[in-house]
Amino acid sequence: MYQENSELQGKVLSGLASALGIIVLSVIYLNLFINKFYILAFVEILFFIASFYIAIVASKKKHKNWQVYLYLVSLLIVISFALIKAPFLKGVFFWVFCLPVIFYILTGIKMGFVFSLLSISGAYAIFFQKTGTEDLFSMHQSGSVNFISCYLSIWVVSHLYENNRQKKEKTLYLLANTDIVTGAKNRLAFKNRCNELIEKKANFFTILIDIDYFKKVNDEYGHDVGDDVLKSTVECITKTANSTDVFRYGGEEFCVLCTTYQSEKECVDIAENIRLAIQNNHVISRGNEISITASLGVTAYKEGQGLETMFNLVDQKMYEAKFQGRNQVISDYS
Ligand code: GH3
Ligand code: MG
Ligand code: MG
Repeated sequence: MYQENSELQGKVLSGLASALGIIVLSVIYLNLFINKFYILAFVEILFFIASFYIAIVASKKKHKNWQVYLYLVSLLIVISFALIKAPFLKGVFFWVFCLPVIFYILTGIKMGFVFSLLSISGAYAIFFQKTGTEDLFSMHQSGSVNFISCYLSIWVVSHLYENNRQKKEKTLYLLANTDIVTGAKNRLAFKNRCNELIEKKANFFTILIDIDYFKKVNDEYGHDVGDDVLKSTVECITKTANSTDVFRYGGEEFCVLCTTYQSEKECVDIAENIRLAIQNNHVISRGNEISITASLGVTAYKEGQGLETMFNLVDQKMYEAKFQGRNQVISDYS
């Protein structure tokens, strides 16, 4: 399945947590021994521990979404605390400008927007309150304009950048996982989906479908008509199986993954329906009417067996169907 942002997220998160961990360590030293801001130092020590933990988890790509959110909330708390406690001229406010970039990369468009809005609202409230004194009065007026417009510029750029990046990532994912001739998912998508199901320890069955004597279609009517037959066969399989787990495994071979059935018998029935639907699907292409049949194998995935073994087994079943005269379904059940 397409997982938004996860690779980039892990890298950015481990890098960010390591960098912030090191920075906060030196700030803890300053606040403990020089500035004597003990409460702030205590909050920073907690944040250092959180950074250390997140850096390790994210580097092993084992972080969960809730950990990312919790870490960002703790970052917001530390920065808010420092903004309130430290004198304005210490320049803690500069940190606020990094936040939209971090939020968008780590949480995507929607949560990036929410976090950015939260941080500008909170930070500006503190800025407004802190610069409300007489000796910072010029900062209170023109500083406000600069503060907000600078933050907004970074926010808008982060939003547009992340929006564009996500769209490109989705397009690339689709291109890498889709067969251009039929529009079905391809072999890479099949492998990924099977591995996902195996990881989840899900019960699933595989139907392998191979069109009978397809070479003859190409030889008799040409490759373009052959392509139309492949496309129409995919539509016919998808409709009959009522599933989005339809894949073009290779040339004229297709796979259906059945994840919602409990018994092999139910899947054999689906396979039989697919066989009949293909047989009755008369494809009209470039003035020709073409009828085809297909041979099908069905097998259940058994825990611990591995993808390759499962595929070899279903391939054997499909070949048995060929040897027994084609246009039939073979499974352990039959
Ligand atoms: P069998 O019943 O034994 O499966 O015979 P078959 O002719 O279907 O099998 P064979 O493996 O001999 O031929 C498969 C043919 O599928 C050969 C190849 O030209 C054709 N083919 C593979 N990919 C495509 C494609 O993308 N478009 C078209 N038009 N033909 C394709
Ligand atoms: Mg074949
Ligand atoms: Mg064939």
